[in-house]
Amino acid sequence: MRKLAPVLALAFILTGANCTASDFDSPVVKRWTKMEKNDKGEMKEVKYMTIDGIMVHEEDPTIQPQPPIVTPGPAPEGDVITAAPSDAIVLFDGTNLDQWTATDGTPTKWILKDGAMQPTSDSGYIQSKAEFGSCQLHVEFATPANVEGDGQGRGNSGVFLMGEYEVQVLDNYNNTTYPDGQCAALYGRMPPMVNACRKPGEWQSYDIIFHRPHFKDGRVTKRATFTVFHNGILVHDKVELTGGTGWEGGNSISEYVAHGDKGPLKFQDHGNPVSFRNVWIRELED
Ligand code: MG
Repeated sequence: MRKLAPVLALAFILTGANCTASDFDSPVVKRWTKMEKNDKGEMKEVKYMTIDGIMVHEEDPTIQPQPPIVTPGPAPEGDVITAAPSDAIVLFDGTNLDQWTATDGTPTKWILKDGAMQPTSDSGYIQSKAEFGSCQLHVEFATPANVEGDGQGRGNSGVFLMGEYEVQVLDNYNNTTYPDGQCAALYGRMPPMVNACRKPGEWQSYDIIFHRPHFKDGRVTKRATFTVFHNGILVHDKVELTGGTGWEGGNSISEYVAHGDKGPLKFQDHGNPVSFRNVWIRELED
């Protein structure tokens, strides 16, 4: 019993302490800024950031290797990939957008097309009216069959858990980009273990097990975790999300910003007509 006292005292100190991103042992994050000329010749402050010594959005494969390509098995023809189970909340079954709005609560400009939903020009993000925390999410998507652009400009969209944390959607079939921003990356934070993309125009799936982050006094005390299957292939195995996934320039990414226990599911309008269908969710215990 006597031996427990120092342990309990230490536990009290640890739980009583304020916890910041830097209170976690890993990763080691370094941030700095530099004044640089932009495209218009104006001097602007540019943010840089390394995570465990690797620059955010590092493109050099000798520093941040490209995830190996794994070819998934064929998707079932003429039907959804995984139909909703009996206890799922079906957010989109291909017939209407009743459960969705624009991010300001007004009607969405996304359109229904062949049983899928798709952004139109300048339609903005779409979000679910219902809000969720920890969950199992299934979503199917197809990047445009008509291939245009390259890098981040080809079939870019995104699946945002709680409206915040992006699992990237991108056409990375014969298209390379920085690994922490390729299809199925936790954007800016973690590349997928493998590149499991199907061809442009083919239906693909994400199955995501997400546990929400926890905050206390405005600071993160428990980070979010992601387990993600892309086309049935494991690409994130209970990965702890080390911070936010918001773009902060070419080499920096956002940190956690405290929020509530639930948030909407969002899909990104990145200017490419990426289609989504068969969206269902099962709420999980934290
Ligand atoms: Mg995106």
